[in-house]
Amino acid sequence: MVQAAFASNRGVVGKSGHFALDLGGDPFARSLMPHDHDHPHALLPPDPALRVKALETLLERKGLIDPAALDEIIDTYSHKVGPQNGAKVVAKAWVDQDFRDLLLRDATAAVSNLGFYGRQGEHVVAVENTPARHNLVVCTLCSCYPWPLLGIPPAWYKSDAYRARVVREPRAVLSEFGVELPPDVKIRVWDSTAEIRYLVIPRRPDDTEGWSEEALARIVTRNAMVGTALVEVPA
Ligand code: FE
Repeated sequence: MVQAAFASNRGVVGKSGHFALDLGGDPFARSLMPHDHDHPHALLPPDPALRVKALETLLERKGLIDPAALDEIIDTYSHKVGPQNGAKVVAKAWVDQDFRDLLLRDATAAVSNLGFYGRQGEHVVAVENTPARHNLVVCTLCSCYPWPLLGIPPAWYKSDAYRARVVREPRAVLSEFGVELPPDVKIRVWDSTAEIRYLVIPRRPDDTEGWSEEALARIVTRNAMVGTALVEVPA
């Protein structure tokens, strides 16, 4: 109805069933309206990498950023920070009861002891999966995530679909990730904030008795630490 009203007013109905208003020469206004997609979006940068480089050059010339510091940040997030850090934490919690207790009591302190701290890792809370409860992490507002432990969040974590659906139908979302939980297992969804970042401590697989911490760390995946996977022993 709304579309029809608009269409009869100033707009035209496109081939795809979308419509486009005649907004004159204002390309920004046009970009905000639903419209036909037969044409390229001139407002999108032709090459995002090129624009990033241009911005970097500009900021450097203005003395607003230090290129060496930028290289250090890129190196950190490309090589030093990632799910391998969280996996070490989980493996340690599996073999070291005292560490597990500290992790559940004060995760920020526990992971700092292992050298994992920094931006987006200031307030970490660890939540442990048990036979009765499975934990699942989301940031319904945006994409808050424990960077020092898991690195940069994957695209699905930031997607509207995950953020909205995981709260309403966590079991269905888990099923789409290939996780089928018994009906009596309760699912607890934790909503991250700018203040608190969650780390899921997955359940240790049964047939890993006697494994070293290093071997255990190798089977702990990023998704398992967000709650969208279970840890399994590779066949
Ligand atoms: Fe967020």
